Amino acid sequence: MKIHEYQGKELFRQAGVPVLDGIIAKTADEAVKAYEKLGGKIAVVKSQIHAGGRGKGTVKDNPDQRGVVVCKSADEVRAAAEGLLGKVLVTIQTGPEGKTVNQVFVETGCDIARELYLGIVIDRAKMKPVLMASTEGGVEIEEVAEHTPELIFKEHFDPAVGLEAFQVRKLCKKLKIEGAAAKAAFKFMPAICRFFVDYDCSMAEINPLVITGDNQMIALDAKIDFDGNALFRHKNLLEYRDLSEEEPSEVRASESGLSYVKLEGNIGCLVNGAGLAMSTMDIIKYHGGKPANFLDVGGGANTEQVTEAFQILLSDPNCKGVLVNIFGGIARCTTIASAIIEASKIVGFTVPLVVRLEGTEVEEGRKMLAESDVDIINATDITDAAKKIVAAAG
Ligand code: ADP
Ligand code: MG
Repeated sequence: MKIHEYQGKELFRQAGVPVLDGIIAKTADEAVKAYEKLGGKIAVVKSQIHAGGRGKGTVKDNPDQRGVVVCKSADEVRAAAEGLLGKVLVTIQTGPEGKTVNQVFVETGCDIARELYLGIVIDRAKMKPVLMASTEGGVEIEEVAEHTPELIFKEHFDPAVGLEAFQVRKLCKKLKIEGAAAKAAFKFMPAICRFFVDYDCSMAEINPLVITGDNQMIALDAKIDFDGNALFRHKNLLEYRDLSEEEPSEVRASESGLSYVKLEGNIGCLVNGAGLAMSTMDIIKYHGGKPANFLDVGGGANTEQVTEAFQILLSDPNCKGVLVNIFGGIARCTTIASAIIEASKIVGFTVPLVVRLEGTEVEEGRKMLAESDVDIINATDITDAAKKIVAAAG
């Protein structure tokens, strides 16, 4: 689950990670009030969307309006807020369709001496979180990783112990942080690592992490992604969820307990089990097709869930065919068969449907389908299924 920058900074503040003062605003009037409350000097108006690259991004149809604006007066704050609120911001991370800005964060201006990069992710190969830091902050880290990977320094840490002092010392040396700024790093770096572990993050990125003119270390940006499977441990985070930022079909699926990810292709997949779903997508690609989604209806799927799954798949206009690939274990083939029949009554299949069933109650399931009036292309195995759906979807 992703959250907005201002929400991330709220959590940072509680966790002892230094951030600047800022106020969230939904209207231009609120933004001006926020500016005055913050002292009326230099402030930065920052669009809040679940994507980075806002500083270089521009509003659709208004290339002069950037997503992050430094302002020196109330009039400038008003103009920036008006130029952003309700508008669609396109950044390198949003794709060409962009994202609508519903809120702006008005933040105190900062005297930036240096912009560093700091990010934490899980290194699956080492089975540990890894802190990555670079002198090349403020720019796209993907570029740095590609052209000058030697400028990204990594420290793996034990989640139970956190980042240790010797590791901070090593990083300070490599990043050329000295004196009072180094002292700040000894607080900042372990605090952000502890935050990452305490909140079960899958990513925490601070770009830029700045060193100010008076040697403070401050998180100027906050990009956080929480592991959705651990959210039950952090009930306080649920209020941060912004459904307007999420793909509507994915929200709908999660409400029915389905794991669904929308993709670019044209073949809808309805599968049980994440492993089978992955291999189904692979084999579709292998035979020249492109999956329209990842969908795992789960081990114990019932008729309602599967019917809902079909409705979600078929509501995607890109979906030109559906492949049902079920290995009945706990989920019985008869459940899937009755869901297919049910769904065809509710939504009607307007696209070809290839079905491959195997496992528990498969004979009964096949019989139910054969006796129904649903138009189905039967497949004998997974390869046969993939070939048939690729051909049928065109
Ligand atoms: P994004 O990563 O989406 O472009 P950032 O929050 O990193 O957004 O802001 C982009 C740039 O704007 C930063 O690299 C920094 O130079 C500048 N900036 C952001 N917030 C402030 C601030 N409070 N004071 C001064 N400059 C800022
Ligand atoms: Mg940034």
